[in-house]
Amino acid sequence: MSDSELSSLPFNERYFQDSSSNYHKIRNSALDNPETFWSNIAKELSWFRDWDEVLDWKLPFAKWFTGGKINASFNCLDRYMGSELKNKIAYIWEGENGDKRTLTYLQLFEQVNHFADALLKLGVKKGDRIAFYMPMVPEFPIAILAATRIGVTFTVVFSGFSASALADRINDSQAKLVITSDGGFRRGKILKLKDIVDEALDKTSSVEKVIVLKRADIEINMTENRDVWWHDSIKNTRDFVEPEQLESDHPLYILYTSGTTGKPKGVLHGTGGYLTYVYATTKWVFDIQNDDIYWCPADIGWVTGHSYFIFGPLLQGATSIMYEGAPDYPNPERLWEMIDKYKVSIFYFTPTGIRALMKHGDELPKKHNLNSLRLLGTVGEPINPAAWKWYYDVIGNKKCPIVDTWWQTETGGIMLSASPHLGLVSLKPGSATFPLPGIDADIVDEQGNSMKFGEKGFLVIKKPWPGMFLTLYNDSERYKQVYWEKFPGYYYPGDYAIRDHDGYFWLLGRADEVLNVAGHRLGTIEIEDAMVEHAAVAEAAVAGKPDEIKGESIVVFAILQKGNNPSTKLRVELRNHVRSVLGPVATPEEIYFVNMLPKTRSGKIMRRVVKAVASGKDIGDVTTLEDGASVDEIKRTIDEFRQSVED
Ligand code: ATP
Ligand code: MG
Repeated sequence: MSDSELSSLPFNERYFQDSSSNYHKIRNSALDNPETFWSNIAKELSWFRDWDEVLDWKLPFAKWFTGGKINASFNCLDRYMGSELKNKIAYIWEGENGDKRTLTYLQLFEQVNHFADALLKLGVKKGDRIAFYMPMVPEFPIAILAATRIGVTFTVVFSGFSASALADRINDSQAKLVITSDGGFRRGKILKLKDIVDEALDKTSSVEKVIVLKRADIEINMTENRDVWWHDSIKNTRDFVEPEQLESDHPLYILYTSGTTGKPKGVLHGTGGYLTYVYATTKWVFDIQNDDIYWCPADIGWVTGHSYFIFGPLLQGATSIMYEGAPDYPNPERLWEMIDKYKVSIFYFTPTGIRALMKHGDELPKKHNLNSLRLLGTVGEPINPAAWKWYYDVIGNKKCPIVDTWWQTETGGIMLSASPHLGLVSLKPGSATFPLPGIDADIVDEQGNSMKFGEKGFLVIKKPWPGMFLTLYNDSERYKQVYWEKFPGYYYPGDYAIRDHDGYFWLLGRADEVLNVAGHRLGTIEIEDAMVEHAAVAEAAVAGKPDEIKGESIVVFAILQKGNNPSTKLRVELRNHVRSVLGPVATPEEIYFVNMLPKTRSGKIMRRVVKAVASGKDIGDVTTLEDGASVDEIKRTIDEFRQSVED
């Protein structure tokens, strides 16, 4: 993008005037002396034994705080037991049907200890793996904290995944025990989780025991000698289980990435470095104060649920909301109603979720008093400026900064974001702003040379950071190859980005989905943002299609806003609109109108599916797809369209 193109972008408005001197000062000092910087933060946690070395860096493997001994559940719970904090509410839970439960830190501590003992009694021990397939109920974090207490490595499988996806993950992790419930509520229906576990266990052999929580009260099969009810498992268990003193790099969890780009990868996180990083970033980004009510509705099945629903907020002694159901059930004002009811002050959501609720207009949020909000956040995808502004104006009532947080399962915690705690920089809608302290991010060309401001390239991280994953479970070769080979010495996240002339970072989409049109590289997000900027378009997905002359041509699938109908006239108008925003090279070749887009269960568009369909190729593994019907629909729309062109 040229200078003039960049400055003509509509996102140059300033939100919150610059008070960033502190922020930049801390960032610079952290980069000059990362080990001192990180060890000072680690000291804010409780260690059973101090570390001998801050960082043992044998490229590409980093060990943080080696020699140090630590325990996650101790840091999230035991630390508060000697003070008034123990009576503070850790979780306010609401069921989809309106049921309510609250748990103080003390109550959480008690239940975690009993369940940790239940796990020990069932024969799991330090070093074993266990798998979760659970609905969003308080027993879920309880069981996770119990696992960490005894040094068991856990892996969470999102409860919307199929039996075969669950079986693959159990087989890869060789989990000995599975924790599930009879069923879970979602959009008024009951998901029969235990039945799915039974089906998965037919394809696995490592599992010895299954713990089943009674939640939906439905008929299920209990296999003798293998399946145990949760309420039976905790009978006659101890009030206190000594937390294991774990090596800092003891594996805390394995999380299989959502698979947006193909076969899931088992991202393995350690303990001491991960906790330090999640602790620090929660503080910098969310700046949680004692009276804040924090809500991150992400399912625990995603990394956001691990880092910023469980560990980060608990390490800060925060009060969090936990909600069992879907954000649009029984209607799309559920979240706004809950923010009002519980006086939520910090809300951390996704661009897809925001766009989905935005489609229903301003009236629904305006029915509720959202004045308690003081800080908003987003994660998961770039947020298009139009959705950013809606979030800012309508949800935040123009008074809440928005932290747009870029990070990945692999990074363990937020890497790029504004930081209210350190002094907020001016925000630009759609930009994740700057790297957090200690994060040495850059944008480079194919050869690994730094790009100038205003030039697009590959995002890289040049120094290890405590939250980084240890490796890919059972596959260190793939770890080296995927993340460290493209730019030797640098971590390569696989995202395409640009820094504008003020140094702000903008994420442009996945690097392997970048389009190459007549020698110009275009991020999918650039074209999608231009599409949704048009009032008629609610959502868009872009893919490249091989083209003999141009290399690739641009294919767009668009969902229209309510009240708009597909027409050739609109198609021409949209083509011209994109052309006028991004220039002639970005003119879409084909635009299809669809009712839905293929998305992962976490709500991200599966562009590789869109691309395969657009170019008539096989769509590959879609076990993590939200709704298989959308793939068929995309194919059908294309077929119909092609036919109508031929007619
Ligand atoms: P897989 O790695 O299996 O393809 P995934 O990448 O979707 O799945 P996550 O680790 O949950 O799994 O997502 C991280 C990715 O999401 C980032 O690499 C980036 O592409 C995108 N992302 C996350 N947050 C942001 C953000 N604030 N702005 C732009 N992109 C983001
Ligand atoms: Mg990824």
